[in-house]
Amino acid sequence: MTYATQLGILGGGQLAQMLAMAAIPLGIRCHIYEPAADAPAQHVAYHHQSSYAQQATLKIFAERVAVITYEFENVPSTAADYLATLKPIHPQPKALTICQDRLFEKQFVTKQGFMTAPFTAVDPTKGVSQSIDKIRLPAIAKTRRMGYDGKGQQRINTLTEAYQVMVDLAGQDIILEGVVNFTRELSIIAVRDAHGRTVRYPLIENHHHQGILRLSLAAAPNVHPLIEAQADAMAKLLTNALDYVGVLTIECFEVMTPNGPTLLINELAPRVHNSGHWSIEGSMTSQFENHVRAVCGLPLGPVAPRGISAMINLIGDIPNPADVPAGTFIHLYHKDARPGRKVGHLTIVARNMASLLRKIEECRALPGVWLPTL
Ligand code: AMP
Repeated sequence: MTYATQLGILGGGQLAQMLAMAAIPLGIRCHIYEPAADAPAQHVAYHHQSSYAQQATLKIFAERVAVITYEFENVPSTAADYLATLKPIHPQPKALTICQDRLFEKQFVTKQGFMTAPFTAVDPTKGVSQSIDKIRLPAIAKTRRMGYDGKGQQRINTLTEAYQVMVDLAGQDIILEGVVNFTRELSIIAVRDAHGRTVRYPLIENHHHQGILRLSLAAAPNVHPLIEAQADAMAKLLTNALDYVGVLTIECFEVMTPNGPTLLINELAPRVHNSGHWSIEGSMTSQFENHVRAVCGLPLGPVAPRGISAMINLIGDIPNPADVPAGTFIHLYHKDARPGRKVGHLTIVARNMASLLRKIEECRALPGVWLPTL
């Protein structure tokens, strides 16, 4: 079987670092295209350092690789569209166009028959109050583009706050969403190969603090069969609708209804995802390896878990690896510590929940760790 042995990745952050590390044992070399000099992935991949506006360097990059993927969804569409004329690019740019814009994303998801929070685009000529009539307060205003880790969004409880939001977010396209009263946040990591076969990892339970993911548990405990069935349908239908190749992450709210629990989709990420980092040690095949396999034309590896896992993000501060409890895996991203910055993560794999919780507690006091009460 032939497969691509030179893989291009747009972006050179920690996701590219972990993709490249997963590619090496498969005999695949990675090339990153990344404007920043101090890219985490440069330690494990060839670094093409240039801007996304430079067609000449994009062309040289494309000539060096057999297939192209990306580690973040805000790749300028002009660069992705240009590269698509030179080499296969997965997931295809259509997925980027949809996932770069919260309005397109929600319209796409609802067209496929899935639910989201109530939403409406804010018409800048009419202002936010007309949209509030449709959504009702409290609501959340979000910029349609470039929002991540809770950035570019504001809660609105009163009409006065709504007017303030219009001032704060002036000049940007906005959507307004109803506030969802969720029981927890779950993510689905699906991966589809070039022949249209889709598998998904166990559902993941995610805990955030100050808008940033802090802790993921996989498999999420106490998942209702209705939720498992919905997750299967989402993984299959959404990847099929996009003719998708690679990892697609579906971020969801779990909500209680009189008919039982259900999932609302909050966001799609057309890439490997922070909530899937546990899979490096916690799954038979990691999300990174399966993404590389899918885009390079190799069969997918099994996604069965090796135990029950926790992933703890290291935010803003870096612990000394010597202080990390034995048996807990540490991954550092070779980034300087700054407030709010993801600089690494820890993974714990245990035989049962009681043992997992005990090991999570041992990490609570480490620098960079924030944990909810468990
Ligand atoms: P986002 O940038 O859309 O991923 O949102 C970041 C976080 O804000 C989510 O993980 C939720 O915790 C919260 N959030 C976002 N949208 C809503 C909503 N419509 N209702 C309630 N919480 C939300």
